[in-house]
Amino acid sequence: MQCPLCDVISQIKDNPSFISELSESYVMLGENQGCPGWCVLILKTHVEHMDEMQTSRQLRLFEDVAIVAGVIRNVFATDGADGGPVRINYECLGNQVGHVHWHLIPRHADDPTPRAAVWGWDAATLKGTLTKEERAELVTILRKEIR
Ligand SMILES: [Zn+2]
Repeated sequence: MQCPLCDVISQIKDNPSFISELSESYVMLGENQGCPGWCVLILKTHVEHMDEMQTSRQLRLFEDVAIVAGVIRNVFATDGADGGPVRINYECLGNQVGHVHWHLIPRHADDPTPRAAVWGWDAATLKGTLTKEERAELVTILRKEIR
């Protein structure tokens, strides 16, 4: 069966949303930017379930996840009252694409539904209003902060 994330990986470096390569994952700026800074980490090889990987690999992947969460918090450090997004949602769902990937979703101070998951939002709200140029700028900022 064709895997959409394996397709993305095959041309990752040409993808304008590609931010960085970490130990076990590729970091991408999410298609949805209703929460600006939303990143997606894609496991470098096709594995459907977290538990199918050796524990050491699971840990390296989660280290990648934590690195990017810290980067998002730094980049948006002036956003919340106490600095940074109010919350980062860490989501590894797989309901639609069965290839391990993590969504890191910064929930900012102006979040319309701060106590709920974003998945109930309509498509336009999820997508957000960033222009192509603003997306490219965010990719550059996040990439610089990761290194
Ligand atoms: Zn895959």
